[in-house]
Amino acid sequence: MTKAALSIGSNLGNRFDYLQAAVTALAEHPSIFGLVSSSIYETKPIGGPEQDDFFNAVLVLETNLTALELLDLVQNIELAAQRKREIKWGPRTLDIDILTFGTDQISTEKLNVPHPQLSSRAFVLVPWFEIDPTAEVSGLGKLVGLVDAVSKTDVRLNSQMKLVVY
Ligand code: AMP
Repeated sequence: MTKAALSIGSNLGNRFDYLQAAVTALAEHPSIFGLVSSSIYETKPIGGPEQDDFFNAVLVLETNLTALELLDLVQNIELAAQRKREIKWGPRTLDIDILTFGTDQISTEKLNVPHPQLSSRAFVLVPWFEIDPTAEVSGLGKLVGLVDAVSKTDVRLNSQMKLVVY
C-alpha cells in the first residue's frame, strides 16, 4: 500500500461539484483507502487569459495501485468531468495532479513525481499542510519548510463549502 497526495482544482462551471465528483469517484474506487480531503481554498489563476478564481483542495489517500495506474484513474476522472481546456493555461473543469506517490521519484514523459511545480504552488502547499502537517516530500524535505517559504496571500480558505468523503 502506498500513501499518495493529489491536488484537485476547478475554475470552470460548478467548481464545487467538479471537486466533489472527484472526491466521490476516488473514495468509491476499490483500490483507494482512507481518503482525507482538505478544505476548499480559492486562488487566483496564474497567467493565461482572464478567468474565474480556482477552487483547490488536496487529498491524501492510500492505494494498492501503481503510480501509472493511479495516473490512469485520475485522468479518467478528469475525462468524466468533461474536462475542456482548449487554451493552454485557460480555465478547466477539473484538473487532478499527483503530488507524491510514497517516496517514489519518477521522471518519465507520462509522469513526474514529486510534482515538479509543487514547491512553488501555495494553492497546493496550504491545503496539503492542513491535512498532513508532518508530510515529507522526497528530495524536497518537510512540507512545513515548503509551506513556510511561499507567499500565502492569494490563497483564501472557503469556510462555507466542505467536500464530503462518503
Ligand atoms: P495537465 O494538463 O496539467 O493536467 O497535465 C497533464 C499531463 O501531465 C498528462 O499528460 C500527464 O501524463 C502529465 N503528468 C506528468 N506528471 C504528472 C503528475 N504528477 N500528475 C498528473 N499528470 C502528470
